[in-house]
Amino acid sequence: MAEAQEINISNQAREFLDSNHQLLINGEWVASKSGDKIAVIDPATEEQISEVDAGNAEDINDAVAAARSALTGEWSKIPSHDRAQILNKLADEIEMNFDVLSELEVLDNGMPMPLAQYSIASHGTALLRYYASWATKIHGSTIPVSPGGAMNGESITYTRREPIGVVGAIIPWNSPLIFAILKLTPALAAGCTVILKPAELTPMTALFLGELIRNSGIPKGVVNIVTGYGETAGAALTEHHDVDKIAFTGSTEVGKKIVEASIGNLKKVTLELGGKSPVVVFPDADLEKVIPGAARACFFLQGQNCMAGTRLFVHKDIYEPVLAGVKEMAEAFTIGHGLIPTNDFGPLISATQKKRVMEYIQIGKDEGADLLSGGESVGDKGYFVQPTIFSNVKGDMRIAREEIFGPVLCAESFDDSDLETIANKANNTSYGLSGSVWTQDISVAHKMAMLIDSGQVSINCHAAVDPAIPFGGNKQSGWGREFGKEGLEPYLKTKATTVIF
Ligand code: NAP
Ligand code: MG
Repeated sequence: MAEAQEINISNQAREFLDSNHQLLINGEWVASKSGDKIAVIDPATEEQISEVDAGNAEDINDAVAAARSALTGEWSKIPSHDRAQILNKLADEIEMNFDVLSELEVLDNGMPMPLAQYSIASHGTALLRYYASWATKIHGSTIPVSPGGAMNGESITYTRREPIGVVGAIIPWNSPLIFAILKLTPALAAGCTVILKPAELTPMTALFLGELIRNSGIPKGVVNIVTGYGETAGAALTEHHDVDKIAFTGSTEVGKKIVEASIGNLKKVTLELGGKSPVVVFPDADLEKVIPGAARACFFLQGQNCMAGTRLFVHKDIYEPVLAGVKEMAEAFTIGHGLIPTNDFGPLISATQKKRVMEYIQIGKDEGADLLSGGESVGDKGYFVQPTIFSNVKGDMRIAREEIFGPVLCAESFDDSDLETIANKANNTSYGLSGSVWTQDISVAHKMAMLIDSGQVSINCHAAVDPAIPFGGNKQSGWGREFGKEGLEPYLKTKATTVIF
């Protein structure tokens, strides 16, 4: 890493960071009741770049009241075609502010600039436009009913798809703007109202989005944004009896707390949780694609990625060249501040996260895995950790089973066992989010894809994400799916109406 690299922050980003950040409640920016603030840190410099309000249970009460009243107000009367236009207008606003949003995302989260730009363009605005087009296609069906019984005479039954209601959306810090958009867009397409609780570590782009929402024609109270801590603002939202649904992305541990907190009013819950995804490489795979594919699968976003392919299973015949290639790629990453265009590997999000990752690296060494590359923290400032590769990892090691959420790849070889045996190794975790299979043999590829117990499997690539592709976890990786038509369903409820003639 180059020493103390000079970074340039644009006037627009600087002005935004320096402005007073409050909570968006009922269409207005309002101060948190407590007056408490959360410092916002650039993880690449450890310097404070801004501060935001820490909302608490009282602020959540106000936001929920605003969302409840907006649900049956002007918003419910807006035709679906206009809802679609509003979502497209918000996408336009994001495109017009693309540069500053990308810059704020880099400063707040630490991700390299090309990644921020790619994610905002290909997942942010694309998601808005995708769900905008769903807004006009939400409808029920007409159901023939046999005469007799309760329906004495001729009858007709039809269903309506209605918005599920007031949605509490709680998101993590690893891709802040995309998660905000991913939660808001299907909810708004369905006609719901939302209270968004961004991660305490990365609130900036959600707040910028709040201002764009105010400009986009979305009525007051439809989207409320309460920055704050998970244990206070987040918990208050999940416990609130006037919230109909929680859409959560985050850790499995907090996901379980959310399920418990939701029992009070039996609110509906969708959960996108952790992962420990396998990358399975067969001996006929194209190494030119496998090597960069496996390196990116694990080290994308410094491994702070729920879909990360952190367990690499390679056939013994190609184990050495694949690992040598991935090691070469890992060591070629340029580590440093995301605003410097030549850097392609940023910091971890926080001191806590860095400590956690370094502890796991020590655990890997203690468990007897071979440290092939990396393993050290980098520089004096910023939460940087080298891309790290362990080889000869065994399935019962903690580094192979627990989500590290950092740049740590665990590799092991397999022999000519049958596909079920290989799949058993790949499935040997409590997670089931993503996974990939690399081979030229279409039978092996599809059989293996069927055997991997996860919500998503990619063949000859890893973690294919698109607004139209359903995404979500099996086992302890979550409940429900996001993206695609399936991602709209949790924001709708069905009402059946029967008419007797
Ligand atoms: P986290 O600690 O679970 O936090 C996620 C969100 O929940 C944050 O906004 C957090 O607030 C809030 N929260 C914390 N405690 C809460 C509580 N008791 N009640 C309600 N809300 C609460 O997760 P993270 O550390 O931010 O993110 C990393 C995790 O997210 C990893 O496990 C990763 O795999 C998972 N993830 C999953 C997906 C997916 O799509 N499956 C995508 C990305 C990340 P604070 O910010 O104050 O902690
Ligand atoms: Mg957290």
